[in-house]
Amino acid sequence: MKKNLVVLGGGYGGLAIIEELLQKGLPKHIAITLIDRQPFQGLKTEYYALAAGTSSDCELRVAFPKSPDVRLVLGEIHSLDQQKKLVHVDGHDPISYDFLVIGLGSIDHYHGVLGADQFSYGIQTFQAARKAYTALNNVEPYGTVTIVGGGLSGVEMASELRESRPDLNISLMNRGPRLLGGFPEGIQTYVAEWLNEHQVQLLLNTQLERIEQQTLHILGSPKPLHTDITLWTAGIQPVPLVQQLQAEKDAGGRLKLNKHYQLLNDPAIFVVGDCAALPYSPSAQVAGIQGEHIAHILLAIWREKSIPVEPIKLRGTLGALGKHCGFGVMGSVAVKGRVPRLIKSGILWRSKHF
Ligand SMILES: Cc1cc2nc3c(=O)[nH]c(=O)nc-3n(C[C@H](O)[C@H](O)[C@H](O)COP(=O)(O)OP(=O)(O)OC[C@H]3O[C@@H](n4cnc5c(N)ncnc54)[C@H](O)[C@@H]3O)c2cc1C
Repeated sequence: MKKNLVVLGGGYGGLAIIEELLQKGLPKHIAITLIDRQPFQGLKTEYYALAAGTSSDCELRVAFPKSPDVRLVLGEIHSLDQQKKLVHVDGHDPISYDFLVIGLGSIDHYHGVLGADQFSYGIQTFQAARKAYTALNNVEPYGTVTIVGGGLSGVEMASELRESRPDLNISLMNRGPRLLGGFPEGIQTYVAEWLNEHQVQLLLNTQLERIEQQTLHILGSPKPLHTDITLWTAGIQPVPLVQQLQAEKDAGGRLKLNKHYQLLNDPAIFVVGDCAALPYSPSAQVAGIQGEHIAHILLAIWREKSIPVEPIKLRGTLGALGKHCGFGVMGSVAVKGRVPRLIKSGILWRSKHF
């Protein structure tokens, strides 16, 4: 009887594990089950382009690996029974595991802003980005869109929407004085200037208190702002299944792990990507690298070899300002303009074709 490795979530982390295992050679006594709610991987790093209407739905799909060693189960995962080692998926019998990977990514975090869950659109899931696409592209000419959160995805969303809809009044709201916290000051200034030149209004030092239908209430301001659509890019948290799990978590709700990425109280469960408490900001890059390392750890366990501990070495972060301009940090070098945009497009092309 084969032992079952069950991977929850076919995103950047989950798929990196499966692909690395298949490439290195899966031991004969192991079978893999991949469970996801959608029948392909969604390229989440491009969901802003889907929402803006500049990339189509099918351009952001990548086929799951086809292998006799991988069983695909499609459905909504709703709970986990750690005692019985079972995963409960809508429309399926409970699925038993010997080893489990949680790689379910993240959802929006509203930080207690009232009405945000009800009156804003998000881009954290394929389904949410599709809804945002419909809402944004149905805004009447000269309407107003407010994007809340001036991090990477907020900046990419604002610039892509500007290219898609030159007629709209677009505002990018940020709680702090500068966009793109964590990036070098020169990049922050460059991006702010690009947005100013392209008529994206920056609302800096602006803390949102409450959202109502088409109205934004700002802390300390008596005058509410009108908006036709509000887009939320101001924070993430792990998915509800992780929120419900009885396990140690960090301040961001991510699961604390040992050095082999196993849950502290359950070595049968590995955690990858946005759900894992790691000393890095959540990113597709971290999820991919960590996924490969988890594959090496699993192979060592199955082959009864010593378990490796590999350092995560990040290559840098690139962002898009529409389809022709970009910015970022590669190694320790800040990059701006057309070259980082071309490199980012190249990385996307590779992730679709390899
Ligand atoms: C707009 C935007 C731009 C970004 N840009 C960058 C970037 O430039 N570079 C970068 O490195 N990172 C970027 N990120 C972050 C990056 O996308 C995430 O960190 C990364 O996707 C996390 O990978 P993951 O494997 O943890 O989860 P994901 O890739 O999100 O995969 C999770 C999978 O789990 C499935 N799933 C979730 N819940 C359930 C359920 N209950 N039942 C069944 N299936 C479920 C989903 O369908 C999905 O396939 C960006 C994010 C956004 C939103």
